[in-house]
Amino acid sequence: MTKAGIATLVGRPNAGKSTLLNRIIGQKLSITSPKPQSTRDRVVGIRSTDDYQMIVADTPGLLVPTYALQRSMRATALQALRDADVIIYIADASDGPPPPLAVAASLAQPPAAPVLLALNKADLLDARRSDALLADTPGAYAISALTGFGVDALVADAAARLPDSPFLYPADEIGTQPVRFFAAELIRETALEQLSDEVPYSVACEIEEFREGRVPVYIRAVIYVERESQRRILIGNKGSRVREIGRAARLKLEELIGSAVYLDLWVKVLENWRRKESALRRFGFTLPGSSDR
Ligand code: GDP
Ligand code: MG
Repeated sequence: MTKAGIATLVGRPNAGKSTLLNRIIGQKLSITSPKPQSTRDRVVGIRSTDDYQMIVADTPGLLVPTYALQRSMRATALQALRDADVIIYIADASDGPPPPLAVAASLAQPPAAPVLLALNKADLLDARRSDALLADTPGAYAISALTGFGVDALVADAAARLPDSPFLYPADEIGTQPVRFFAAELIRETALEQLSDEVPYSVACEIEEFREGRVPVYIRAVIYVERESQRRILIGNKGSRVREIGRAARLKLEELIGSAVYLDLWVKVLENWRRKESALRRFGFTLPGSSDR
């Protein structure tokens, strides 16, 4: 009998959830960035072995809701907790023992699924600090999502908690999101890499056209920002920045798709989109249900 089910990664922004997801799946599915809040929606990856199939959900950081975008992110994360068969609570080891998940996430009650605590970025601690931390947090796993250290033991424990079940997806599938979604995420990631300060949180990407079936694959994408001043920053001097973003993003898209790509990249303003539910829906964000308020 095989096992199959959902492992949900949860933790504060920047703890390393996306890096761990990519490590578990063995392929880059989720964008990672030193800037917090780079993962806005749920990215699902699938790891299949002979014995189990683990569907891994990455969550946006559990934030205190202050504006529409963050409320949407929190709603997504809470739903992922409810859907979980096992929860991997990932924290930055350098911050010391983390508060219990229910406290950190201000949950009314602890989640139903078992919670495994992963103290990530162990590569940044010396052995003495790492031992002391583990002594303070019995049952926790010290891991490095970046190097892979400790990840196998964590994943084996998580897999053991999955319910007995036939596989839910074909064994050779690694993701459940359409390629368009990843393409938009890669373009957004590339824009984030080349920006600083205020702009990153205002960046969204939409694929307007994705024409396969001939080479190069034609992709028309729009990077949306919230204000004209941000648009000018993205365009850069005589278009130099958007050209550079387009060039770097095209290389990533070619790797994703495995074919030459023509990327037609535009930058447009959608005023204050983060505060507008209609815009959030359009970019595919999950909006909060009444139970998440
Ligand atoms: P998320 O916001 O929780 O999804 O975090 P990310 O996966 O995007 O990672 C945030 C930052 O921490 C990125 O710069 C990662 O490269 C870095 N990071 C993630 N895991 C590790 C790790 O194990 N060791 C170190 N040194 N850095 C890590
Ligand atoms: Mg992330």
